Amino acid sequence: MSQSIINPTILNIYGINSFINKLEESTLDIIDLRDLIKTFDIDFKYDEDNNEIQTTKLPAFTQLTFNERIVSDDTSYSTSYNRPPLGPIENFCYCSYCSNISPQYHTIECPFPEKKSLFLTFRGLYYYVIQSKHSNFSENLN
Ligand SMILES: [Zn+2]
Repeated sequence: MSQSIINPTILNIYGINSFINKLEESTLDIIDLRDLIKTFDIDFKYDEDNNEIQTTKLPAFTQLTFNERIVSDDTSYSTSYNRPPLGPIENFCYCSYCSNISPQYHTIECPFPEKKSLFLTFRGLYYYVIQSKHSNFSENLN
């Protein structure tokens, strides 16, 4: 039987936030974050063929999230990058930002991969609205 080289810890590490390129006195980019997010290796991989996240036994890096607020002259908007993508999308819903439909995941660059971005599909409208009110619905038809 093999023994783990990693000692278990009593701490439950939720996440690590890193703030880089935040030097007030410098305008130089020390690390190009847009390049780094695409090349940084993550232990959990998204399997497109099976629509699932492939996990590893001893994960070190499970999720990469990069949110950015883009400000131009008169407008501003948010971008988001999540690898592996977030999801799966709730049953009978689709994302109004990336247009993916359940049980798919949001796209990697979906700007708002959140529940408030989801809307019901026609099938969802049938199951959650019409069918749940089926007794009243059929009474109204008669
Ligand atoms: Zn989305």
